Amino acid sequence: MTKKREKIHNKLKQEQPILFHSKEECCGCLACVAICPMQNITVSVDEEGFEYPVISGEKCVKCNSCISVCPLKIK
Ligand code: SF4
Ligand code: SF4
Repeated sequence: MTKKREKIHNKLKQEQPILFHSKEECCGCLACVAICPMQNITVSVDEEGFEYPVISGEKCVKCNSCISVCPLKIK
């Protein structure tokens, strides 16, 4: 297998990223929505009117840009 094919193969095996496990891990800035190159993150409004991102559909290319841009994940 060529290096390029191997890279694509490994990427496809990766899990889709998880933006947050609980609402405390998300401030609702929606930077992840803005940066997703596939427009694969939608916005959901909770019962109190706060907006939260939701990775949806099957267009995710697992680039992890949404995780890299998140201000609550940047160390
Ligand atoms: S990993 Fe990339 S394509 Fe998938 S939801 Fe995040 S930014 Fe979008
Ligand atoms: S970038 Fe992080 S904090 Fe901002 S909406 Fe996305 S998951 Fe929430």
